[in-house]
Amino acid sequence: MSSEKVSCLIVGSGPAGYTAAIYASRAGLKPVLYTGGQPGGQLTITTEVDNYPGYPEGVQGPQMMMDFEAQARRFGSDIRYGLATKVDFSDSTIHKVWIDHDHLVEAESVIIATGASAKWLGLESEQRLNGHGVSACAVCDGFFFRNQVVAIVGGGDTACEEASYLSKLCKKVYMIVRREEFRASLIMQERVKSLPNIEILWNTETEEIIGNGEVTGARIRNLKTGESTLLDVTGFFVAIGHQPNTDIFKEYIDMDGAGYIQTIKGSTKTNVEGVFACGDAQDNIYRQAITAAGTGCMAALDAERYLAERGLH
Ligand code: FAD
Ligand code: NAP
Repeated sequence: MSSEKVSCLIVGSGPAGYTAAIYASRAGLKPVLYTGGQPGGQLTITTEVDNYPGYPEGVQGPQMMMDFEAQARRFGSDIRYGLATKVDFSDSTIHKVWIDHDHLVEAESVIIATGASAKWLGLESEQRLNGHGVSACAVCDGFFFRNQVVAIVGGGDTACEEASYLSKLCKKVYMIVRREEFRASLIMQERVKSLPNIEILWNTETEEIIGNGEVTGARIRNLKTGESTLLDVTGFFVAIGHQPNTDIFKEYIDMDGAGYIQTIKGSTKTNVEGVFACGDAQDNIYRQAITAAGTGCMAALDAERYLAERGLH
């Protein structure tokens, strides 16, 4: 078991983590950042990102995250591959984080930027066409399906909200709901039902998303009759929930029922002094690259103030 002491440890390498690294390194905190199992975060599994300011022609998600990383490295951030596997935040002055089980980092401040993962149906075709017509983010990718016919799976508030959003851009939206009722709140259900270009397919599951390089349809099955039919769609959205990547912190950090970290309003402070949270790990509402980056900046500034107040920086 090896160990080291650092001033600022950043856990996660999405827009939140890298932005925190840019600010923390420019502030002289000498941050150490561990990338986790998905270096670059969620945007590395998408294609075009069209809504991040500063890229007037849009940018490929993986390229954008390489740009974030390069900018963080330019100011001296120590970026390393490795997964935080365990923490001990019981001592408020030094926070212990184990990397890949066998390396102990004792950090004066910790920035949690571990993001969230969209839940998927688990179909082979869904994985193969991910970023090529299959998406878990209507706000991000709906624009690419203007005037086209799309499908969205899910019956919760997210699916209803995203279906309404898509209905404004797309010719038609099929909602694939596995039960005979929505899970969503009544107001969201009513909104969806009032929109003429949304067709709800109750008691329906997806058997396969069809396409080679791009989505050309979806085979669905009515769970009551057993009948399979082909949907003529060019976009396929999955909106069955997200899972924040916060499990390893739950013994110490306050979270809501779904596992999103609760921060003190107007800041990135958690209930543990010296531990800050940013990005999707603490945001179940906006979940965008720009908001993740914004809170990454806040977390670095909060960490710097925390260290300065204690004479540690
Ligand atoms: P993430 O990007 O989720 O990154 C989390 C990081 O934490 C990863 O690097 C991971 O490896 C790391 N990590 C997790 N657990 C650990 C651990 N235990 N130890 C160490 N590291 C760990 N947003 C937009 O604004 N525009 C778009 O066009 C857009 N398109 C999208 C398309 C898709 C398909 C998806 C899924 C999302 C899209 N989003 C888009 C949303 C956007 O990707 C997220 O809001 C954003 O990436 C969140 O950033 P984050 O830094 O909080 O976390
Ligand atoms: P959710 O409430 O958990 O709903 C998930 C939906 O996906 C359910 O309809 C569920 O079906 C379905 N589903 C799950 N797994 C599936 C699978 N494998 N195949 C097909 N369908 C599947 O998740 P959410 O909609 O993301 O909402 C999460 C939380 O955020 C909720 O508390 C919600 O109220 C809140 N939220 C609020 C708003 C708002 O108020 N504007 C907007 C978005 C989210 P079953 O119902 O059959 O389980």
